[in-house]
Amino acid sequence: MINEVAASVAKGGDICSILNAVNIDLRPADFGSNSKCAFSSPTEGFASILDAIDDIRQGKMVVISGDEKRESKGYIMVAASQITPEAIDFLMNRGSGIIYVTVEGGGLEKLQSPFMNVEHSTTACISANDLATTILALASRESNVEYYSSGSISLLRYREGGILERAGHREPPGDLAVLAGLEPIAVLCEVPCDDGSTERLTKLHKFANEENLKIISITDLIRHRRINDKLIELTASVKIPTTWGTFTAYCYQSITDGIEHIAMVKGKIGEGHDVLVRVHSECLTGDIFGSARCDCGNQLALAMQLIERTGRGVLVYNRGHEGRGIGLGNKLRAYVLQDAGLDTVDANIELGLPVDSREYHISAQILRHLGVQSVRLLTNNPVKCVELRSYGLAVIDRIPVVATITKENERYLETKGAKMNHVFGDSCMSNIINGSGC
Ligand SMILES: [Zn+2]
Repeated sequence: MINEVAASVAKGGDICSILNAVNIDLRPADFGSNSKCAFSSPTEGFASILDAIDDIRQGKMVVISGDEKRESKGYIMVAASQITPEAIDFLMNRGSGIIYVTVEGGGLEKLQSPFMNVEHSTTACISANDLATTILALASRESNVEYYSSGSISLLRYREGGILERAGHREPPGDLAVLAGLEPIAVLCEVPCDDGSTERLTKLHKFANEENLKIISITDLIRHRRINDKLIELTASVKIPTTWGTFTAYCYQSITDGIEHIAMVKGKIGEGHDVLVRVHSECLTGDIFGSARCDCGNQLALAMQLIERTGRGVLVYNRGHEGRGIGLGNKLRAYVLQDAGLDTVDANIELGLPVDSREYHISAQILRHLGVQSVRLLTNNPVKCVELRSYGLAVIDRIPVVATITKENERYLETKGAKMNHVFGDSCMSNIINGSGC
């Protein structure tokens, strides 16, 4: 039977009519306890964000590493409200000696300080005591500017929204201070191991180890906030009769960028276990116009049919994911290059764009808001399983969505298999048929 289905798929047959014809059972099954979530684990070699927050609350310093893959700079931070003359001495002697204080934009303007538009290194020489007093005054939002004009500290603007708004070195200290329950004002000093070598990250870890300071990664901080901050707002919900059956549509707005997403829900989510879920990336050409260049429209239809037939499930429609995140215009430009011989991956690279820049934290938040706990994910893309797990959802099964293979999309699907680890084929069909994971 499996071979029959696979053969029909290869000939371009309609999957759902085939599944109906062979009476495939799509009822939820027991897939065991393979639901371990990786979201609480920090990147290897780094401290957890929760441990770092504890230290900051206690007035300890923490080392922040930039993008660990790019060997970027490292900084020592301490919450401004916890600064001491001893900490100043440490930053002067073991850090680079140039001390910055990050202050949110509104707070900076209220200070009316001579430093308002000045971001330069220290020149004057005042005592650690006086510097600590100055920084404590800043942390308590005093407007006395006597010490600010000393030239010994520089103020940096911390953008409201922090690291989720701008992934620079100015935002993590303020974010960490807020997470520790303190004012978003922090002291920052570069770790002096920037000799341009490719071993910068190793040196940064060595420094933190020698000084007995925790070191965290900015990537982990972003992930922590994407899991724990409320980043969506439910704006409407209503029943919608569709081609495939009646679903309840939930509209969610992303708080950071205002983009509206939709979740089509079938049946009762209840305790939220073993829910059939499709996290679908917007594809205007495929979903609306039935473009044969990709399999998106067919996957969308198949997922809706499967969820309808199961009687319980969710399809999250992710807006802003067009062209794996490069946008509609760029996707069409990539098609021009594909017509000239490049595949879907190389075309993006040729345009100087990422192969896949999609993020799944908004999908995870939407699913969690709907009460979904564990997921049987309809996807050919194993990365989606890893991503959703990293944002706190238990993905207990992956069910491939093998849509119609045609002459037009055959090469596109081959590339996704060869270069993006997508999984199609007989084994996928057997998993749908048997109700077990790939
Ligand atoms: Zn598409």
